[in-house]
Amino acid sequence: MTPLRILLIEDEEADYLLIARHLRTNGLTATLRWAKDGPELAAALETGGWDLVLSDYKVIGLDFKDTLRLLNSRFSHVPVLLVSGSIGEETAVELLKSGVTDFILKDRLARLIPAIERSLNEAAEKRKRKEAEEQLSAREEAYRHLSQAYRVLLDSVPDGIVHLSPDLKVRWANIAAQRMFALGADSLAPDSRCHVVFWKDNEPCPSCPVVRSLASHRNEIGYFASRDDSREFEIRAIPVADQRGDIEGIIEIVRDISAHRKLEEQFRQAQKMESIGTFAGGIAHDFNNILSAILGYAEIALEHLKEDHPARKSVHTILEAGLRASHLTKDLLMFSRKQVCRKEPVDVNLLITRIEKFIRRVIGEDIQFETRLAKEPLCVFADSHQLDQVLMNFATNARDAMPGGGYLTISTERLEIDRRFVDAHGFGRLGPHVRIAIADTGKGMDQQTAAKIFDPFFTTKEMGKGTGLGLSVVYGIVMEHQGHVLVETEPGKGTVFTVTLPLIEESKREEPRGEDRERVRGGSETILLAEDDGAVRELYVRVLEQFGYTVLTAVNGEEAVRVFAGHPDTVDLLILDLVMPRMNGKQALEAIHRIRPGMKGVFISGYAPENIQQKDLLEVHMEILYKPVSPKELLRVVRTLLDAP
Ligand code: ADP
Ligand code: MG
Repeated sequence: MTPLRILLIEDEEADYLLIARHLRTNGLTATLRWAKDGPELAAALETGGWDLVLSDYKVIGLDFKDTLRLLNSRFSHVPVLLVSGSIGEETAVELLKSGVTDFILKDRLARLIPAIERSLNEAAEKRKRKEAEEQLSAREEAYRHLSQAYRVLLDSVPDGIVHLSPDLKVRWANIAAQRMFALGADSLAPDSRCHVVFWKDNEPCPSCPVVRSLASHRNEIGYFASRDDSREFEIRAIPVADQRGDIEGIIEIVRDISAHRKLEEQFRQAQKMESIGTFAGGIAHDFNNILSAILGYAEIALEHLKEDHPARKSVHTILEAGLRASHLTKDLLMFSRKQVCRKEPVDVNLLITRIEKFIRRVIGEDIQFETRLAKEPLCVFADSHQLDQVLMNFATNARDAMPGGGYLTISTERLEIDRRFVDAHGFGRLGPHVRIAIADTGKGMDQQTAAKIFDPFFTTKEMGKGTGLGLSVVYGIVMEHQGHVLVETEPGKGTVFTVTLPLIEESKREEPRGEDRERVRGGSETILLAEDDGAVRELYVRVLEQFGYTVLTAVNGEEAVRVFAGHPDTVDLLILDLVMPRMNGKQALEAIHRIRPGMKGVFISGYAPENIQQKDLLEVHMEILYKPVSPKELLRVVRTLLDAP
């Protein structure tokens, strides 16, 4: 056992010796330090390290109360025992109050040892208590830190996080939740219930996931639309159980899924288009072969009829009807995106300027038409015929919506699509765009109608007036051009359609093109024609022969190669249908090239590239004409190829 270190403050040597002996004879192992006056006390305090202080009350040159104060301030945990000759009871009580641990009269030293032991025990107890308190407050501090850190963490999550009591009172809500529901600091009073705070409703919402979760003790999910704006929320409720397994609270996670929903809607629309497109496209392709024959023969018949022939009018009508039918198949193909899209840099402003007079013709005199075009050129990578068609379709609809006249305005502007735009609209690629707005002052639409207008065959027009294809064609074309189309409308308040298309660099701008009205010329060369459709084959043969050419025919690729092999030096040009039985056009060409490398030719196809099933057919290095090919076009291309070096 380590000896106790005791400081003894006493001015009488006899008393010092008396106490020292008493301690020793009673078996207390201790080192004693005797301080008999102020300087000695000061030196002893300097040394420090005392377990216990025994002090007389009256020491010459010292005031006990000062000594006590000094001791308590320097060694607060060290017990101070007063050992005095005589001391009044009142003084004793007062001293005990001011920090003396105990007091012993010198003539009753027998009490000294037990008093020392007790005071040391108490001091040890006190020390332990203090340590425990210190530990506790350190732990509290750490806890405060941690909860602060968690709060920061939860506040940085973009989802709303709300902690609810089982009776739906809001215990806590993170910043995202407060923002989502525009909550002020005072909205979250201790008693506020979630349905009141978030939805301004006195009853819990119908099929509230929190209520369900309280009943099922499982995670639940629900979807809610805000009443005041068009936001939509996904709400997950997660029950929190205490140690006994009772539900102690609910964590609610709220996510704003408005943008997500918009995307989903767009995706659904695109899928719907896709499937109807496949169907419509299939019909349109077969139609093209039939139309080729109808139009071609009508054209030929017309050539044979004298100006005053009574059948001319009928043939003209056949031609017109055939052309209308071919526009219809073009529409079908275009919205199904199976139409070949020939893109080039196009200045939207130029395009609109060029088509203005056609629009005026379509809308008639009762409608005032105005364009407001951006000063700068706005170039997009587009098929200008298709964009023409988009504008014409909008114009036709605008006309139908304004039977009593009104205003139609087409305006263009540059639009920079940034993150904010994408977040707000739920679509868009970042970067510069052109925005084309087509506004009319017509009868407008209700939201139910507006939701369906891009559907193929949706029309509100009477039988025979509308096909319901106009806007689905618009939609198909705009999608094909990586753009978007939006409609804003209200019954009686007119309609604004907005098309956004990605801008390209100005340098790639289009040159205005002139109409080519070159005359059709024939020739005396020999042409090998391979085409499996009999009517189309016969038509082309007639046209070509009529213009002086000699035509060799084949009904499939295999035959074409055979025929060519028989006349390898006489054939000047090949016309090959791309998709044929036995051997397709590309394979036939390859075989022919093995016989005569560099043999010139042109492919004809009833299918647009996207719709050709065989991959290798997509990579042909020869010009392709798409059906229906008019006799004039055929002759023109044939002549150009033959004349080319
Ligand atoms: P169609 O014109 O053959 O009916 P569309 O696809 O062009 O087919 O248009 C579909 C429907 O959208 C129209 O029947 C009409 O109800 C509505 N619509 C289109 N444009 C407008 C407009 N500018 N104003 C009012 N309604 C319109
Ligand atoms: Mg229309």
